[in-house]
Amino acid sequence: AEEAEQYAFNADVTRLMKLIINSLYSNKDIFLREIISNAADASDKIRFLALTDPKLLGEGDQAKLEIFVDADEEHNTLTIRDRGIGMTHKDLIETLGTIAKSGTQNFLEAVAKGADLNLIGQFGVGFYSSFLVADRVTVITKHNEDKQLIWESDASEHFTIREDPEGNTLGRGTKVILHLKEDEKQYLDTQKIHVRPAVPRPFAPPIRPAHSPRPFAPPIRPFVSSCRVPPLSRLLPQDLALRYSEFLDTPVFVNMKKTVKVPEEKAPEEEEKPAEEKPEEEKAPEEEEEEAETADEKPAEEEAEPKMVERTVWEYERINPNRPIWMRSPKEITDEEYTNFYKSLTKGENSEMNFRAILYTPETAPTNTLELMEKNKHIKLFVRRVLIADEFEDFLPRYLNFIRGVVDSDDMPLNVSREMLQESSLLKTIAKRLVRKILEMFSQIAKRESPEDYRKFWKNFGKNIKVGILEDQANKQRLAKLLRFESTKSAGELISLDQYVERMGKAQADIYFITGESVQLLRDSPFLDAARRKGIEVLFFTDPLDEYLSQVMGQYESHKFISVAKEGLSFGDETQAQKDHAKLLKERFEPLTAYMRRLLGDRVERVTISARLREPSEAPCVLTHTSSSFSPDDLEYAPVPES
Ligand code: ADP
Ligand code: MG
Repeated sequence: AEEAEQYAFNADVTRLMKLIINSLYSNKDIFLREIISNAADASDKIRFLALTDPKLLGEGDQAKLEIFVDADEEHNTLTIRDRGIGMTHKDLIETLGTIAKSGTQNFLEAVAKGADLNLIGQFGVGFYSSFLVADRVTVITKHNEDKQLIWESDASEHFTIREDPEGNTLGRGTKVILHLKEDEKQYLDTQKIHVRPAVPRPFAPPIRPAHSPRPFAPPIRPFVSSCRVPPLSRLLPQDLALRYSEFLDTPVFVNMKKTVKVPEEKAPEEEEKPAEEKPEEEKAPEEEEEEAETADEKPAEEEAEPKMVERTVWEYERINPNRPIWMRSPKEITDEEYTNFYKSLTKGENSEMNFRAILYTPETAPTNTLELMEKNKHIKLFVRRVLIADEFEDFLPRYLNFIRGVVDSDDMPLNVSREMLQESSLLKTIAKRLVRKILEMFSQIAKRESPEDYRKFWKNFGKNIKVGILEDQANKQRLAKLLRFESTKSAGELISLDQYVERMGKAQADIYFITGESVQLLRDSPFLDAARRKGIEVLFFTDPLDEYLSQVMGQYESHKFISVAKEGLSFGDETQAQKDHAKLLKERFEPLTAYMRRLLGDRVERVTISARLREPSEAPCVLTHTSSSFSPDDLEYAPVPES
């Protein structure tokens, strides 16, 4: 036998392997995608070379570019075999170990920053993902220009290469033998490797905070959000090899373990012959044991003759369709197939977010007013069902601090630090989507049949919505729709700005409001007289935040917010005659206003004649404030001109 030569791995590669082999990463299935894709790449390479030199492909089975996946229960190995280009001695040394690839370093850095191991393929180091499930990897390879070689590594600092004492058993191609870790034997289950029905993954029910003595307030309504198309990598666990190989033009076969019923007398070699052609080439030792095993013999039903017995057989089953998608009729291709093909093309690069969340709006108000300034401490963050952060602050914006619930993301690394989480753009995207969802939840509450629900919500969390308008620029419009006010025409009910706008008269362009301490006080305000005369609805701004808010918003859907206490208020419908009349009055009463200005000194800014009050029944004078100020300090007296 040949002496094995030892080579030192590039130091970064060693680091990478250590990281992978010790990883608690739960999405280990990706190794199969990486190894199968390498086999497909190798097949593509020889296929391409054979375009100019068909001899390179060889003859018979050797010319068939196919990929086989075999599970060996006795030796605890999973083997992926191809008839691709193979690797020379030089290839083995360079591509599988000693040469530093930029991808290695880059991937290590990315992982340190919280990147998902799933991205490994994109960094050109996908091969090493085999150490997610294997503690030893043997690569047997035969290149047209070299002998059959055996490369082996147990993820230590060194790997070995030796000539295969068995000689050329492969013809051409590569066999990657994964010696599975003790706790990864699940991958011997060919059903899992082949196709498992897509079972929706369960999601844990909402969890009560352990430290909270009170149970959750009864939820108004939970909602669940998860994106419709999970990324390719997340599809893999469900139908592992298929999903990825679906669009490979190299056929992929999985040697499936099956139980069949056969007549008792039937000769054993019959069952052993698989339906798919089994490769003719000599078997490597790992495979030889794949004899048909006889399961416990059970007598079949008494009447049946001949007697049927159950037998275990292994049968290669092609798992990808024969025709690539572009060779099929566009009519028979579903949108989902197109989507999946795109994902297989891009190998999940622009990975979609996959997360689930259950969020609640409590029915009760925050216990103290200070709470409004506090961050949300009620969101628990899970990554693949593992609790990562119990009180995850800074996730949702402050104004949504009353929302409670859990968020479970699939696309985040488990071993991520809190600081990294904060920085994670993934998390920011999730948060953004959740905020939208939450706002939708609010408008759902508003749409409910019982107006009492929203009234309650508004009473408890209206302030939060207002703060949201001030702080969440991106959702300002959505939040504005949630605002509610009483008005001169709402008869004690709350109305939305949309309702107000809908009820506006034809000539009215703006939204009128009046500010004050309470609706009771405002109802009798003389400022309302003019609006009342014209039948214009006026909103009651009884919260100190309201006017500030209206100024920050400026307008609502092109309707300006106008205070009826504003100096020079007009409703935009004055005729020329009215304007002329106002001018006339102004001139006529100039001596009076000048006198009053002298009288009041700097207690007022101006004294003007106003048409605001006209009916004799109305107040004799009003205090107005200037258009630009919203503090009532600099008011002025305006006498009633006539009557
Ligand atoms: P990538 O596939 O992005 O190049 P990998 O880490 O997956 O990165 O593989 C590294 C290299 O190992 C490949 O580029 C290829 O040269 C070689 N290799 C891996 N698997 C095979 C195979 N089955 N047949 C031939 N070469 C292979
Ligand atoms: Mg690869």
